[in-house]
Amino acid sequence: MRKRMIAGNWKMNKTYGEGIVLAQGLADELSGGTGDVDVVVCPPTVDLKGVSEVIAQASAPFALGAQNVYWEESGAYTGETAPDMLEAVGATHCIIGHSERRGYFGETDEDVNKKTRALMAHGIVPISCCGEPLEVREAGTHVAYVVDQIKRDTEGLEVDDPSAYVIAYEPIWAIGTGKTATADDAQEVCGAIRQTLVEVFGAEAADGIRILYGGSAKPGNVAGFLEKQDVDGALVGGASLAADSFAAMVKAA
Ligand code: PEP
Repeated sequence: MRKRMIAGNWKMNKTYGEGIVLAQGLADELSGGTGDVDVVVCPPTVDLKGVSEVIAQASAPFALGAQNVYWEESGAYTGETAPDMLEAVGATHCIIGHSERRGYFGETDEDVNKKTRALMAHGIVPISCCGEPLEVREAGTHVAYVVDQIKRDTEGLEVDDPSAYVIAYEPIWAIGTGKTATADDAQEVCGAIRQTLVEVFGAEAADGIRILYGGSAKPGNVAGFLEKQDVDGALVGGASLAADSFAAMVKAA
């Protein structure tokens, strides 16, 4: 039985002070607990330490995630952040391969693969994103496109603990656009991802890996996605920027 996960991606929003206010608001909203749902918030890198302190002080029921990592341990990589630097500020999760990083910063499947290995070596849970652009969806080749991404992102990987590896299916045309995929659209691709994971890791591991849906998910539509067999949670952008809407999604899960 896979535990549901709701993860918030703040993207490049919230200064240090604003991040603390949002994290504190979320801690208040979720003070009654999150039931059987894993909750993760992923602030900008410079906010990680402050949010980590809020989590510790409030005993808040959510984990801390980063939005990016570099795969080397240290060295001359200006502007990058190593896995142990994330670990040192309390990050237990990290988004990788988000379509904005692939699109604006040229992140490739090979990079995603290296980042996954680096995170796993440090016990940080990768939230590994995949998803097709609009033209691929319109051409009807979206399933093959995403399956191909998953094969490249997972090439040569070993997953010892399936609960510590998370995939997020985010159709690019649905991110930040207000356009959501239907729950059936999400299931079609998430089901194909699960089948690919069976081929790559075997049935038992594939059954334990969580697959999130992302793309204009909000309090009013999240439950519909979660009814689907292979959708185990949501990666949330815009609706994670207000404590009440994000908490409402956790409660709906
Ligand atoms: C995201 O970028 O991960 C995302 C899902 O954004 P939004 O919810 O705003 O579409």
